[in-house]
Amino acid sequence: MRPIGTVQTIECARLNFYPQKTHSCMPGIPWSPDDKSRLVELVQKGLGPVSIQRLGVLTANDRRPRSLHAIAQQIRRMHLAQPEISEKARMARMRGRSITAEQRHSAEDYLTTHGSAVPIHHVVERFGVTESWTRRSLKNLRISRVWAETAAHPFSRFHDPGYRAEVSARVRRQARERAAAHRATLVALAEKILSSSPTVPRRSCENCGHSFPLQSEFFPACHRATTGQTYYLHLCRGCAAERRRQPKSQPDGLSATGDLSRDEGLRSQRLRRILCERRDNVRTAENRPQERACRACWQEWPLLSDFWRTSRTQKGTVLFDPRCRLCENARRRSASKGRITRKVLAQSIGVPA
Ligand SMILES: [Zn+2]
Ligand SMILES: [Zn+2]
Repeated sequence: MRPIGTVQTIECARLNFYPQKTHSCMPGIPWSPDDKSRLVELVQKGLGPVSIQRLGVLTANDRRPRSLHAIAQQIRRMHLAQPEISEKARMARMRGRSITAEQRHSAEDYLTTHGSAVPIHHVVERFGVTESWTRRSLKNLRISRVWAETAAHPFSRFHDPGYRAEVSARVRRQARERAAAHRATLVALAEKILSSSPTVPRRSCENCGHSFPLQSEFFPACHRATTGQTYYLHLCRGCAAERRRQPKSQPDGLSATGDLSRDEGLRSQRLRRILCERRDNVRTAENRPQERACRACWQEWPLLSDFWRTSRTQKGTVLFDPRCRLCENARRRSASKGRITRKVLAQSIGVPA
């Protein structure tokens, strides 16, 4: 039995001492009102202590970022945590801790045989393990996965059209955002270069019309060792990437529309534009030249060597090809492609072409 006097002393001491304790005896640097309101803002945005700590915006007096523990503790003190998120985090921790050896072994066995393609959510549901444990185990077991195979697996969520649409919308949005950010960086860099050295060679992109320095940072380039020259694309990097993502026309003849269509090469597109302009100039109101329809595209072009490839007979008569310049070029390209393919095939099987 303790004497009554002692108990009273302790009680009094605690009552007197407690209000001061939160200030003077708390280790570390007190939180300023600014930091507190910033923390409230970040938590309301849905960030947890880990993400907040990574931002590194909350610092102690010597400008070092506050520790994860300090941030978590302050969130707790200010009662900022949203109950449902805390509960979710707590459950995840519990699941992580409560994976029994038996569960682990059976999950590992399953991963060894099926891990190369089975979706992770299926392993989580079937064996009660966590997603992070599953990913770590796949890495430890050195199982490599191919996205296409995982997506094609019968248990994959990608068979659900709703889920597929959601993921594809997210991926597209992220790609758009990344592309916009990249373009903004390039435009800013170009402005810096052009303002500091105005005489630097420049080129306007044929799609967006923006003028960039003629350098490989801004235009996809190819260096040809035989001529020692570097050739630059007429599309800036942003537009070139966009064009690469455009689907080529369908085999059934349905073509992809848009300025960046891949159905026709860039050089052919340029030639087509030039020829159309030239035809408009040649066709004046008072004088319309003799024209002929191309056998392949059925467009009418003036009978001039600008628009048709020509040859001469022995007597010196000029003969126009039955196809217009554009269609004849296309025919020659596909013929040469066929010749090269046959040559490669003949070499690979050891037969003279
Ligand atoms: Zn462009
Ligand atoms: Zn034609």
